[in-house]
Amino acid sequence: MVVCYIAVGSNLGDREGYIKAAIQKLRFLAHTKIRKISKIIETKPQGGPPQGPYLNAVIEIETELLPYELLQELQRIEQLLGRIRTVVNGPRTIDLDILTYGDVCINEEALCIPHPRIFEREFVLEPLKEIAPHMLERIRKLILKTKPKKVEKTTLPSSGIAKKKNKQPSVKLQAKFRRYIKRRKSTYRQAINKVKKENKDNRRKFKNRARF
Ligand code: AMP
Repeated sequence: MVVCYIAVGSNLGDREGYIKAAIQKLRFLAHTKIRKISKIIETKPQGGPPQGPYLNAVIEIETELLPYELLQELQRIEQLLGRIRTVVNGPRTIDLDILTYGDVCINEEALCIPHPRIFEREFVLEPLKEIAPHMLERIRKLILKTKPKKVEKTTLPSSGIAKKKNKQPSVKLQAKFRRYIKRRKSTYRQAINKVKKENKDNRRKFKNRARF
């Protein structure tokens, strides 16, 4: 099991209802357990078009899902809860982001872990500090390690395990990953391809919308 932190936010419709529904769906996620949930806070929107205030929270989970599998599940929950991507950083019924995944560093367009903007977002920092103050220093170090581009070259795309010595997660975690990957390589590859295809489709939709 790997400990992860998930950020959740909503600023459309029944915001609290959407956050609670997302938490409920996370409870039923396979190979995953919720360990802690922060208080839900109200925050001002940051970036994007003018829009209403958000409700935000952070959730600590333990999961056996691999990073891309987890991302795929979060995107599935977003879709189930009516998330429609129209404008970048626009209003949304629900937003679920992976903040951290153990000590793993991934730097790909479709998945960046730790989330690179944690320290720019008070709406993430405040609930994260509440449930995991010990994580902040660790995340800061991981983000420093995850230098753009360079890490991309040193990261195994199928696992997110960095190859370079100083980029490696713990030996225990690596062994765990290897076992999962051996067992579930094809599922994992499918999850990566599905997320990448969805991202490509979304980009195409944005382009078409911009044109008309
Ligand atoms: P958002 O609009 O904030 O939901 O962004 C979702 C997009 O960011 C998707 O295309 C994801 O593939 C990508 N992404 C990159 N890193 C992450 C992450 N750590 N958690 C969630 N989505 C991510």
